[in-house]
Amino acid sequence: MADLGSLNGVGKTLLKELKSAGITTIQELLEYYPRTYEFRDRQIPFSSAFQFGVQQTKINTVCTVINHQFFGFGAKQTLKITVSDGTGNAALICFGRNFLANSLPVGTKIYLAGTFSIRFGELQSSSFDYEIYSEKPQSFGHIIPIYPLSGKLTNKFLRKVIAEAFEIQGKFLQDIIPEKLIEMNSLMSRKEAIKNIHFPKDKASLDKAARTLKYEELFIFQKKIRESVEKNRVIKKRGKPMPRTLQRKVVASLPFTLTPDQISTIDTIYTESLENTAISRIVQGDVGCGKTLIGFLSALPYIEAGMQTAFIAPTELLAEQHLKNAAKIFQNTGIRLAFLSGKLPQKKKELLLEALEAGEIDMLIGTHAIISQNVRFKNLAFAIIDEQQRFGVLQRNALLEKGNATDYIMMSATPIPRSLEMTLFGELKISTVRTMPPGRKPVITYTVMEGHENRIYDWVKKELSIGHQAYFVYPLIEDSDRLNLKNATEMAEYLQNRVFTEYKVALIHSRMKEDDKASIMNSFAKGEIQILVATSVVEVGVDVKTATCMVIQHADRFGLSSLHQLRGRVGRSELQSYTFLVFSQELSENGKERLKIMKETNDGFLIAEKDLSLRGPGDISGVEQSGFMNFHLADIFRDTELISQIRRDIEFIS
Ligand code: ADP
Ligand code: MG
Repeated sequence: MADLGSLNGVGKTLLKELKSAGITTIQELLEYYPRTYEFRDRQIPFSSAFQFGVQQTKINTVCTVINHQFFGFGAKQTLKITVSDGTGNAALICFGRNFLANSLPVGTKIYLAGTFSIRFGELQSSSFDYEIYSEKPQSFGHIIPIYPLSGKLTNKFLRKVIAEAFEIQGKFLQDIIPEKLIEMNSLMSRKEAIKNIHFPKDKASLDKAARTLKYEELFIFQKKIRESVEKNRVIKKRGKPMPRTLQRKVVASLPFTLTPDQISTIDTIYTESLENTAISRIVQGDVGCGKTLIGFLSALPYIEAGMQTAFIAPTELLAEQHLKNAAKIFQNTGIRLAFLSGKLPQKKKELLLEALEAGEIDMLIGTHAIISQNVRFKNLAFAIIDEQQRFGVLQRNALLEKGNATDYIMMSATPIPRSLEMTLFGELKISTVRTMPPGRKPVITYTVMEGHENRIYDWVKKELSIGHQAYFVYPLIEDSDRLNLKNATEMAEYLQNRVFTEYKVALIHSRMKEDDKASIMNSFAKGEIQILVATSVVEVGVDVKTATCMVIQHADRFGLSSLHQLRGRVGRSELQSYTFLVFSQELSENGKERLKIMKETNDGFLIAEKDLSLRGPGDISGVEQSGFMNFHLADIFRDTELISQIRRDIEFIS
């Protein structure tokens, strides 16, 4: 297959930009689906704006420039261009774009689209998009894809390279969904679907393409679940019974007692471990319910019986946190722990791998690095996969294959509504941890309107003064001009230099190197940093007990489950914790409802149910994609019908 660099206009810089957006191959480029669309296939003339009671109208028309005028004085002078499309006139207010006087002289015929409203008796817009009239317009006359942007990527660039990529590679695209199912469900071929998701012929083709690709994603997902469960139906030959002496001893040494659900989950896993078929089990529970400990304790009977265990986490940060935890819990037990991540120096790594193969390590904790081919166990019998949604099924299988009929449990970060359990994990067994460790005080949640942050700052200062810490979360910026969000970097500087001058503020964001992230996170955990400013990805699972404040800027832009996950970073001890949800002045109805739910409840399962009911059948992919399971198009909360349908379809063809 041709590579990305061979596309026209893709030089080193853009290759790098594409890479940081997760695109390294033509295939991935073709699967970089639009975030939304502008429907410029249908004309909406100026005359359609004058409807009773309507404040704003989307216009899409062909018009001619009839007049230029300037208003205001001096540097503030602003150009106003009057245009006519035959049904009426409108004014284009060119804030900061006075140069348009040159680009659009009187008499120019243009395509024009934008949001217009009636002001001072005339139709006006200051946010509009245009293109000089031609027979074959680039950005008008059809449905225009709008891509998720980052760095230097622009829509124009993406449209161009994706069109070219399709030109070169489109003919090689092969169906993944079996022909019979394509027919039964009136779907498109993969080739047609990819073409129409990027460059839809019309609304109907777009819908069909989206349905096809969604179906495809979910089909692959369910097929893999099925395969991995079937694969794991192998019979174990354990030989020895598994003692629980060590498990009991460690439980007794804990500074706290286990919750009833922790106990019953550990019991279930033990009982299952004695059966003939290998364990595949999901452990789900609300944030902070103590899933990690369930994993550690469940590993002990295997270790006592002389077998090896593995604990894998999606990031360096989390893996290190788990290691520290394990070291504490297992002290004085003689259990041999080891840590493996990509950054381990070669020499040490070699020693570790040798010891592992010789059976001199009882529990290996680490990142994806554990999956690599050269990692060999003597007798891996039990694997714990933390934050399972971050691992692909292939990775999971690669890990399990390092043992023989390996028992495994997976921790799920997001509580799953009961109504979804079947559709999502139908073939897997599920343990649900509902009880929380005793002594936890529910996090108190406040909503604060943007512009009133000073009150939050005062509150946070009080908490810092008694040795506590705070997170400030700012959403990652995509269309920065459109969404006008505060920039996390600027805010970190502002907070450091203007607000929390006596404390240490640090910034952590998704584009930083793992190493740098980990070292900042470590300083935060140690209390050397008091305020951590982060983009929306404060690592799921991070556990810092003295962090008592979570401030979420633009909270109304986050989905419920993200808000709940973020709030779950505080309230991890008996200290009273607080979450501040800062909302913008133009709060939508749905946004209002979400904040209300967050204020009313801390129950992740209830929140997941609400999340499900709040998501109507919206547009193809909203700004607030949940990202759950890393689907591009599918949304497990919204597509439950389709998921069930696909389960039946797979049943039907197998
Ligand atoms: P999660 O389920 O979100 O992964 P963790 O496993 O990180 O949660 O646990 C959250 C915190 O609760 C940890 O600091 C852990 O030590 C603590 N913890 C776990 N179980 C108990 C318990 N039974 N009593 C008190 N604290 C507990
Ligand atoms: Mg966890």
